[in-house]
Amino acid sequence: MGYKLTSRKTFLKALGVLCTMVQAYCVKCRAKREIKDPKKITMKNGKPAVTGTCPVCGTKLFRIGAAL
Ligand SMILES: [Zn+2]
Repeated sequence: MGYKLTSRKTFLKALGVLCTMVQAYCVKCRAKREIKDPKKITMKNGKPAVTGTCPVCGTKLFRIGAAL
């Protein structure tokens, strides 16, 4: 058996990344929303971020450090 199971924590983290690919907190809906039309940007400090709009209310969403 060459396959080594990753730890549960690592697995859940990887799963979370896959499931919540591009989500951000919408202040209007007060809930996490999937970002509509996500755009990958780089902030002034060089860190990656994703911007887009809320699919429910159209508010601009912003997520720091998210990878598309
Ligand atoms: Zn919203």
